Amino acid sequence: MIYDLHTHSNASDGILSPEALVSRAKQRGVTHLALTDHDTVQGLQSARQQAALEDLVLIDGIELSCVWAGRGIHVVGLNIDPESAELQSAIAAQKEAREMRAIEIGRRLEKAGIRGALEGAQKLAGEAVLGRPHFARFLVAEGHVNNIAGAFKQYLGAGKLGDVKHRWPDIAEVTAIIVQAGGVPVLAHPAKYELTRTKLRELLAEFKACGGLAVEVISGQQPPNETETMAGMANLFGLHASCGSDFHVPDQPWQELGGFSDLPSGCTPVWQLWH
Ligand SMILES: [Zn+2]
Ligand SMILES: [Zn+2]
Repeated sequence: MIYDLHTHSNASDGILSPEALVSRAKQRGVTHLALTDHDTVQGLQSARQQAALEDLVLIDGIELSCVWAGRGIHVVGLNIDPESAELQSAIAAQKEAREMRAIEIGRRLEKAGIRGALEGAQKLAGEAVLGRPHFARFLVAEGHVNNIAGAFKQYLGAGKLGDVKHRWPDIAEVTAIIVQAGGVPVLAHPAKYELTRTKLRELLAEFKACGGLAVEVISGQQPPNETETMAGMANLFGLHASCGSDFHVPDQPWQELGGFSDLPSGCTPVWQLWH
């Protein structure tokens, strides 16, 4: 059994279609795959059809953004009901907020002399949820900057003109939405927030109090001692353990499908919650 419980398709900011993602996961030996696109369930139906063809278990998922103590935090929902009314309305609200934000980013870039950024970013996003990465790709394609990192450094990153504030829900709201959708709330990639141990403990305690049930003990490539730390934290707070690649793009070995499923033996695997 190889579980990969955190992946992205081009329904959000990944590169592969949901079908191609499922096929690649199968080739790489994944037996249980969760598609967890940012703030959308759009890719799940195609992924499910492909998973049936490939004889792979698909777990319906999503990754929701929120804030905690002024920081951006991600919560993955696993084994959700994509049709849930509460989830659908949260997705719609999030989409509208993102669209308003994109319009404002486009307006500000226009003012700085960059024409057609909103339309350009929309074209690059296609059906996907429009976000700053699409503006970044537009700025690169039009020669305003040399690369994606440059686009964030010059225009889109913190404190730059394209850094338009967005009212994210708080951690209690997103956790409740996932629970209402019948899913398991999982704190995503805890090491990425670069919190001190004390702060991480505070976050886990609050997440648990809000109804959080699991934490990603493994998220892509990470040092073994980090896996141990996260396993210890999971056990300390009585949280189940999840694992995933956070796959976005093929051929990035540190986030490749199916490469990160060996949970330490002391952990309680998250899939026990739905098996
Ligand atoms: Zn994330
Ligand atoms: Zn992710």
